[in-house]
Amino acid sequence: MTLSRDARLVILTGAGISAESGLRTFRAADGLWENHRVQDVATPEAFQRNPALVYRFYNERRRSLGGAQPNAAHLALARLEREWQGDLLLVTQNVDDLHDRAGSRNLLHMHGELLKGRCQSCSAIHPWPDDMDVDTRCPTCGRAAVRPHIVWFHELPLEMERIYQALERCDLFVSIGTSGHVYPAAGFMEAVGPAARTVELNLEPSLRASAFQEGRIGKATELVPAFVAELLGK
Ligand code: NAD
Repeated sequence: MTLSRDARLVILTGAGISAESGLRTFRAADGLWENHRVQDVATPEAFQRNPALVYRFYNERRRSLGGAQPNAAHLALARLEREWQGDLLLVTQNVDDLHDRAGSRNLLHMHGELLKGRCQSCSAIHPWPDDMDVDTRCPTCGRAAVRPHIVWFHELPLEMERIYQALERCDLFVSIGTSGHVYPAAGFMEAVGPAARTVELNLEPSLRASAFQEGRIGKATELVPAFVAELLGK
């Protein structure tokens, strides 16, 4: 694919880009995430009903990050950001920190981050590398417990205004490793302008595959570095 070097890019990633780093995807097998139904661990109702289970689930996810490393796909996107002359916004649905550790900086975590905690009273957001539970008080106000800084189902994703502005203006929209089940990200295609080019890179065609102009099927660690090299003309 050839594009002018100052073209504006928006790249969306999902759990599939981190699969080869050893972090399990969510819907791939049976709708379970690490053997839990999402409605038991990833909704505000679940947190009200059984906070101990939800804290434990995210404590385990947070700990599992320690054993995972950014893979060739994360590294290729960080390289693209360094070498691309136009605007590049990377939007991830992932709550892991593998894009951050690979070196991506113009990055929005629309579903929050495992390594942060948010106060349920004053909403202060804190870096949180350790476990948390019902008794973990907010370091800022001390009034309430800190919860995982994760956007659960039925909650509003973060930074949507910036994301939609970038989508409207972009020349290329690329979707990588996402199943197309989870909205609003699954509907980003509808927000791009009529002149923008659209590409999906995934292990299998996503639910939204037919909406993209081009689809490439394969593993992220192979497809993404090749796609980045193509964009950079190398
Ligand atoms: P998903 O789990 O619904 O779908 C993953 C997609 O990636 C599938 O279409 C699958 O075919 C594809 N895939 C699997 N392995 C791949 C590979 N090696 N290369 C390329 N593609 C591959 O993921 P989603 O659409 O991102 O939605 C899941 C939701 O769950 C997100 O909101 C996310 O916050 C959360 N989640 C996050 C993580 C993480 O942070 N690593 C992991 C699981 C779930």
